[in-house]
Formats: sequence, structure tokens, C-alpha cells
Amino acid sequence: MNPIYLDNNATTACDPEVLDAMLPFFHKEFGNPHSPHTMGRRAMQHVEKARESVATSLGCESDEILFTSGATESNNLAIFGLAKGTSGSRRQILVCTTEHKSVLLPCDELTGQGFVVEKVPVNSQGEIRLDVLRRQLSIDTLFVSVHAGNNEVGTIQPLAAVSRLAHEQGALVHADVAQACGKISLSFPDLDIDLASISAHKLYGPKGVGALFVRRGLNSGALRAIAQGGGQEQGLRPGTLNVAGIVGMGVAFALAGRRLHQDMKHIAHLRDDCEQIIGATSECCVNGRGAQRLPGTISITFRGVPADMLITNVPELCVSTGSACSTGTPSPSHVLLAMGLSREDAECTIRISIGRTNTQQDVQLAADLIARAVSSLRTRTS
Ligand code: PMP
Repeated sequence: MNPIYLDNNATTACDPEVLDAMLPFFHKEFGNPHSPHTMGRRAMQHVEKARESVATSLGCESDEILFTSGATESNNLAIFGLAKGTSGSRRQILVCTTEHKSVLLPCDELTGQGFVVEKVPVNSQGEIRLDVLRRQLSIDTLFVSVHAGNNEVGTIQPLAAVSRLAHEQGALVHADVAQACGKISLSFPDLDIDLASISAHKLYGPKGVGALFVRRGLNSGALRAIAQGGGQEQGLRPGTLNVAGIVGMGVAFALAGRRLHQDMKHIAHLRDDCEQIIGATSECCVNGRGAQRLPGTISITFRGVPADMLITNVPELCVSTGSACSTGTPSPSHVLLAMGLSREDAECTIRISIGRTNTQQDVQLAADLIARAVSSLRTRTS
């Protein structure tokens, strides 16, 4: 029996339409989009079509989208690139405590390079404390980095409010929107953000491709390249473009746009059922339940039942102990700790993330298997 895949925040399967669109670019249409000949120009036309698709779905302009290898690279380019571009007195960086490691670690590195990095706390639901952010912001703030939707708990952040506060002090706003794209409606102009990191593989596109949105009005020089090479992507992200991946990303964004409301409804319905079934049979706590959440993310704590033990006991399921990127790291999730969970409770938390292709049957079976395993492990350890 194939396992039931409920780890869609870690990655998703490529949609068949995405795969079909990508295939010719590995063999028939293999031109380098930077070559001036016919094959090169044809490849570039497909890249530009994909750029337009991504931009349209986020409400921005094509020339505001720079292709990268994924959200990790986009986060690094935004953070190190803004630090490199600052010339004046703005040396303070504000970053939400529950960011992905690909945001937190570059910020930490800047601490040793003349920048003052301050963490902005969240409340018990994982929502950024706007009152604290307001006090931390000053005319020395270079940028604020806040994600749109949390990968572990699903909490949706009030980005428009963050932008309003930051812009009042002349600071820029970078948002990691990797988990929110394709899951909730996003309009960059409405959120008024300056930079955003995007990934394709979270919304049924391929792995290894993403983008950085850079608002057109950003002062030239405010963002500097962090790698040097052939000058591609407006000189900000050199390197031969991953044409097949970019074409796949374009199709994935177009599909996500067409399916957004249907997906949101279907997935939220499965999420509610899953929480209800597990909650009816096991003592548990759903983290972030009081906040606006991404439709398919469930972070659930079974007190006294270590998550790694629980997962080993349900081999029929693919669920996660937290962020897949930190798998192998023995420390409990920094996101859950920031929300006020104890280390013990954080270690007893699993993440279920539901996707487009999951069914009512998947969720029913998963909830039953989890409830049974929790009950058996609790009996064993009591
Ligand atoms: N940011 C967030 C919020 C994520 O969930 C992830 C993927 N786990 C990333 C960044 C990294 O994305 P990528 O795999 O495209 O580098």
C-alpha cells in the first residue's frame, strides 16, 4: 500500500500539466535563453511567458520577478543584497522569531557585520506582535522580514499592517511568501511589500526553482547582487536560467490561480474534519487554532507522546515533526517555542499538511491511525 501523503508543506507532487509543459525543455527546446540565435530566443520567450504568469497571479509586473533556485536563495539574496546595498545609517534589521531558517540564519550572520538584528516576538497563536514591532521600528531600520504564512503552524501574518508600520519609518519590507502562494489569495500591491521570496515546489511545481519579487520603485542600488557572473536577471541573479523549471513554475502559478477558491474550500474542509476526528478521540491541542491559518496546515500536540515515536508508529502516513528543513536537528521547533510551548510539548507535536489531491478517505484513515497510535503509546508510557 502506498503511504498517505500529508506533508504538502514540505513539498508537493508536480501537477501532470506542469510536468507535460516542462518535458520539451530538457531535449527538444534546450536552447540557452541568453543565446542570441533562434533556439535561444525561443527559450527566452517561454521564460518571459512564465514570468508573466507568476507576476499576474501576484498582482505585480513581469520585470519585478527575478528567477532563482527557490525560496532559500531568494531569502538570502533579499537579506544579504539589502545589507550590501545600504549606504547610510540604517543598520537595524527586524525579523519575526518564527521565520524559516533561511531567513533567520542570514540575519544572524549580519549581526557580526555591523548590523543590529532584533527578533520581533509572536503571541501564543503565532501572530506577530505589532505593538512590539511598532516600538522596535526606528529611522535606523533597514528592513523588516515577516513571512506570509507559517510553514509549521500555518499562522497567516498581517503583512499589510507590517508594511504600514515599517514604511512610516522609511524601512523596507521583505516577506517570505513560500508557504502562502497557491494557498491563499495574495496581492503584492495590496500588501504593499517591497520584496518577496517565492518557491515553485510548494504549489505543485518543480523543486529547485523560485523567484524574488523586487518592487519596481525600489531605489536602484538598494538591492545588490550577492553572486557575480553573466549579468542575468537584471544583474541581480547571474547564472543560466533553469528554463524547464521556470516553465513549470509558470504553469503551476497559472493553475493555482484558476483553482485557488476550489482548493481552499476543499482543503479547509478536510482540515476541519481531520481536527474534529482526532479531537473527538484523543486529548490534544491544535496550535494556532485561534489565528487565521493556511487552509491545510495542522500543528497538533499530543502531550506525553514524542512526535518521532508517533511517526514511527504510523508508517502508513507521511506527516512531519515540524519543518522538514530542520529534520535531523535534535532541538525542538523554534516556532513552537516562540509561541510559548514548553520543550516537552514542542517535542510532542506533529504537522499534518493537506494538499489538493488528498481525499476525505485519506483524512479519515490518517485521523484514525493517529488516534489509535496515540492511545497505544499513552498506554505503554503511562
Ligand atoms: N521559506 C519557507 C516558509 C518554507 O517553508 C521553505 C521550504 N520549507 C523555504 C522558505 C525554502 O524554500 P525552498 O525549498 O524553495 O528553498
